[in-house]
Amino acid sequence: MSTPLSLRARVAEHLRSLGERHLLRSPRAPAGIDLSSNDYLGLADHPLVKARAVETLERDGCGSTGSRLLRGHREIFAVAESTFAGFKGTERALYFSSGYLANLSVLTAFAERGDVILLDRLCHASLRDGARLATARRAVFRHNDADSLARALKSTGGHGQAFVVTESLFSMDGDVPPLSEYATICREAGAALIVDEAHAVGTYGERGSGLIEATGIDDDVLVSINTAGKALGVAGAFVAGPHWAIEYLVQRARPFVFSTAPPPALAAALCASIALVSGEPDRRERLRDRSVRLRRMIADAGISIALGDSQIVPIVLGDTERTLGIAAKLQAEGFDVRAVRPPTVPLNTARLRVSVNVHLSDAQMERFVARLAAAVKDLPECHMVSS
Ligand code: PMP
Repeated sequence: MSTPLSLRARVAEHLRSLGERHLLRSPRAPAGIDLSSNDYLGLADHPLVKARAVETLERDGCGSTGSRLLRGHREIFAVAESTFAGFKGTERALYFSSGYLANLSVLTAFAERGDVILLDRLCHASLRDGARLATARRAVFRHNDADSLARALKSTGGHGQAFVVTESLFSMDGDVPPLSEYATICREAGAALIVDEAHAVGTYGERGSGLIEATGIDDDVLVSINTAGKALGVAGAFVAGPHWAIEYLVQRARPFVFSTAPPPALAAALCASIALVSGEPDRRERLRDRSVRLRRMIADAGISIALGDSQIVPIVLGDTERTLGIAAKLQAEGFDVRAVRPPTVPLNTARLRVSVNVHLSDAQMERFVARLAAAVKDLPECHMVSS
């Protein structure tokens, strides 16, 4: 029997192994032209959004000083929540300090022992972690595949409540599931549909409220999770749905009940950004125009990208080391583009996750695509990384 490694040696071994597989990460501040943030509509730096935050910070201080159910509540949270619910077209919404915690909350509050949670195979870590933490069984279905979902529901059904979980715009692939088909399947099977709109809120739909609105499936969704740190430009997340479901979260969502409320200034800033999203549809029109144009430029340069019109444009290169090399080259040339590696994406699908925002000009995109094409050509293929 081998002697167990000391904790320190075990950690050192894990770190060494990550390094060997080019999977060590470190934070890097923004530098260069933004091709990687989630500030799709350019609202993080908007004067009205900042002014509302500053004004509230000056008046109410920095921290909320307690959880929402104790002394941390402020009227501005209720205002932001009803503003968001009105925008989303639901009876009610609840503000959480992050999308990650909102996802943990939804899955652990509603799914009970004996139930089953079915997730798209490529769902975000926060959804997978929420399902893992819940006492219900969990299973996966194939990415964006309605038949696979129907089969999974059939084979796991029969007992308890089924929950079907998907993103509406996938964060690392920029693609969209067949939401109307999912809605029909769930309706027929009595399953509850939960939709993470992290990357679609603010960017899709006539009102800008997301893909649930754009697809017209509002009545078939139990709740949606709407991250506020991406197109809305601030932080946190709104869970939106019918009154009864949101009231249950107030009572039972542990990250809501047992955690300090976010700074009230964020809720105030969100009131401004929701008003901007609703009142300035030209922002999302420009985003769509930029996204379609960049995708076309990349395809014309002979680089293979997935079809679609979304602002998330993954350039899947496969090999981790090669992807890192290309990202570093582009960064040195002034483009803030980031490599995304396993376990964020499946093994051998390392990619540049290029994201589009309203500030990008034609000239910047043309220069980027020219440098990207040169970098992809210059850096030879290397061996695929094995697990
Ligand atoms: N869901 C999805 C699909 C995401 O992409 C993210 C963030 N990357 C989250 C949830 C978590 O949101 P937050 O960053 O607000 O914790």
